[in-house]
Formats: sequence, C-alpha cells, structure tokens
Amino acid sequence: MLEGLSSSLQKAMGRLRGKGKLSEADVAEAMREVRLALLAADVNVKVVRDFVERVRERAVGQDVQKSLTPGQQVVRIVYEELTELMGGSQARIQMASKPPTVIMLVGLQGAGKTTAIAKLALSFRQHQHRPLMIAADVYRPAAIDQLHVLGKQVDIPVFDMGTDTSPVEIVRQGMQEAERQGADVVLVDTAGRLHIDEDLMAELDDIKSAVEPNEVLLVVDAMTGQDAVHVAETFHRRLDVTGVILTKLDGDARGGAALTVRAVTGCPIKYVGLGEKIEPLEPFHPDRLASRILGMGDVLSLIERAQERIDLEKAKEMEERMRSSTFSLNDFQEMFRQVRNLGPLDQVLKMIPGMNKLKGIENVDLNDKRFLRMDAIISSMTAAERLDPSVMNASRRRRIANGSGTTVREVNQLLNQFEQTQQMMKRMSGMGKKMGRRSAMN
Ligand code: GDP
Ligand code: MG
Repeated sequence: MLEGLSSSLQKAMGRLRGKGKLSEADVAEAMREVRLALLAADVNVKVVRDFVERVRERAVGQDVQKSLTPGQQVVRIVYEELTELMGGSQARIQMASKPPTVIMLVGLQGAGKTTAIAKLALSFRQHQHRPLMIAADVYRPAAIDQLHVLGKQVDIPVFDMGTDTSPVEIVRQGMQEAERQGADVVLVDTAGRLHIDEDLMAELDDIKSAVEPNEVLLVVDAMTGQDAVHVAETFHRRLDVTGVILTKLDGDARGGAALTVRAVTGCPIKYVGLGEKIEPLEPFHPDRLASRILGMGDVLSLIERAQERIDLEKAKEMEERMRSSTFSLNDFQEMFRQVRNLGPLDQVLKMIPGMNKLKGIENVDLNDKRFLRMDAIISSMTAAERLDPSVMNASRRRRIANGSGTTVREVNQLLNQFEQTQQMMKRMSGMGKKMGRRSAMN
C-alpha cells in the first residue's frame, strides 16, 4: 500500500534521523525530497506546497523536545503534519439519536459502493447493531443481485423492489421495512455513473431528501488519484457529503487521494477499503497511515513513550547534576530506571541526548535482563559506596555480588561502565559551559 511514496519519504527521512545536528542545507535537501515524493505520489500541487512550507517553518524554529535529536524532530514534524493533512484524528460515524441511523453511499460506478455497503454492514453487526441494506441501484439488475449475494454471504438482510420502482420509492418502503425488522442501521446502496452527470446528482439529491440520512458517504477509488479528488469535490458541493470511504488502497494506489481529499474538500476520510474480500471495513486513522507511510511505527511509539514517561522534572535534575559533575551511582541507577520504562533499550538509548554520540554504544550489550542485574548491583551497595565508589575493595565487591545474586566480574563491569559514563558527563558538562545550555543536550 502506497509503497512508492512510503519508500521515497523514508529515504528522505532516513538521511535526517541519525543526525545530531542539522544544517539549513540538510533541511532544505530533505524538504526537496519530500516535495518530490509527494508530487510523484500524485498529491495535489498546492497541498504539497503548503505541506512542505509548514514542515520547513516548524523545522527551522524547532519546538524543542529534549528527548529527540534534531533529525528525529524533523521526522516527528513530518509525521504530525501528514497526520494533520489527513484529518488529524479519526472521524467517526454520526449515529442517529433516535434509531435507525441512515447511511447513504454515493459515488461513481465501480468505485466500490456495493462492496463497501456489505463491509460496513458487517462492521455494524460486529458492534451489536442490526443493519438492513437497501438496493436502490435500479439501472442494472446485476447490481441488485450483487447486493443479495453479498447479503447472503454475510447473513444480513437486503431490501429491494426490482428495477421498476423509482429509487425514492424504494428507500421510502425500505425505511418502513427497517422499522418492521427492528433494524437500527439502514445502509442505502445507490447507482453510479461512469462520469458525473446532472441526472445522477438530481436522483441522489432526491433520495437524500426522502431519507434524510445521518451520513452521506462518498465512495472513491484511491487508484484514480487526483481524479478521485475532483470527483469528491463535485459530489461534496452538490450533496454535502459527510465523509469519504477510500477504496482499493490495497492496490497500487499512489497515495495522492488519501493525502489530498481531506485538504481539498474538507471532507474527512472515515473508512478505507483494503480488498475485494468482504471483511469489516477499516475505520481510518490518519496517524496510523502516516506512521505506516513513514515506516516508523516503532520509532513513533517510542517517541510517544518518551514524551509520556520521561519524568521531565527528574530529567532536569539529572541534567543539573551532570553539569555540576556530581553524577553518582544513584544517578546512574535512576537513569537506568527511567530508560527501562521505555522499552527496547538499544533503540531507546539512541534517542537519549548525548547517548547516540557515546563511543562504543553500539557494542554495549543492553538487554533487559542485564539491566535488572545492574540495577540489583547498585541496590546492594551502601549509601556510602554509591557516593564514593573508590571505597569498594575486593571484599566489598564480593559482598555486593552475593547480595545481588550476580558475580564479582559483573560488579566490576558495572563500576567500569559507571566510570566511563561519569567521564562522559564531565566532558559534556564542560562542553555545556562553553557552548550554552541547549547545545550540550542535543
Ligand atoms: P460500485 O459500482 O461502486 O458498487 O462498485 P463495486 O462494489 O461493485 O466494486 C467494483 C469492483 O471493485 C469490484 O470488482 C470489487 O470487488 C472491487 N473492489 C471494491 N472495493 C475494493 C477494494 O477495497 N479493494 C480492491 N482491490 N477491490 C475492490
Ligand atoms: Mg454497486
């Protein structure tokens, strides 16, 4: 799904990720690549321009997030702006305060309306609703049969009156049938055309007036790119569409429609269709698609975790202590504990300011078990030992190893690591004095 866009954006972001410092040229080059990637994915030109401008502005005046490197911050900004572009948060279906909730699907022929109706019916039933599907596409007998076949497949009732009754009459009768059956969700399948024409619009408008739907969902085929956006604009202008179902996102859609529809029409994408098979329709989550496009699911959740869990106060205290070079084993332990809250350690460490520049960090074996043992070792030390490691002679080290269920060798290793970290802290604090607060942390 959206592979081309995904891989080119990832390439652009990949260049930034590892960087501790970003020059203006780095950002400019990355933005150029982002722009090309979006254009190649058939995203609307104006949307691309605005998008890149917003990212550039934010990247230059970077809102400081100390747990991230500048490169990671740009990735975060791109992610947030992509999410925003697609509507920000999930747009939900408006349910009627008094059932039934009526949902009418509109769109061009072949967009995937009938398929989406069946999937939608399945989703509702999964949530304990009782849907009824109405076949109001009277121009092709095959369309009615198709809905019956799908209805049988998912065991959800279908109401039809053949092809000789007008769609308006069908939906009127259909509503009465819904009441008889106690259906609380009514899904109306309508006819499409190959192209937008006035007859079609007028008919849809009439159906709309007859049933007063809670939702008019426009079904658009993601594979048609900018055409899909144009179609959406026209339908929206005429019918006040309340949401979009973007189908065929499983195929080789380039992404243009997904990234443009919302920005151009103001209409949120509510669902996406990901195949011909009748499965419950997937609610659309802009943030998830953005992270999938950027191929950064893990990194993003790490960023979130870091934002939530790193205790800012403690981090600040620690920073002060690092600067005053009184970094003790207590701090060392505290640091481990904070980091351990975050998950996969090798990834987390790279995100910690300064750590990614620590020589040899890639060789440090940091799995969780090892962390727990290190924590236990420090816990077995006396307060005096933690403040002044130099008092730890051979017999004290044996005692600590026994007390923590580890070995003298591990105790020695930990003390060596502490010493190295302490020296790095001293160097950083020296640097900090010369270069000012911010740069020491980044
Ligand atoms: P309608 O004319 O708008 O009712 O469109 P249909 O529901 O009949 O779908 C037209 C074709 O698109 C059918 O062959 C469907 O199987 C196919 N289709 C619908 N939704 C999807 C989707 O999400 N992914 C893929 N790959 N095919 C789909
Ligand atoms: Mg159809």
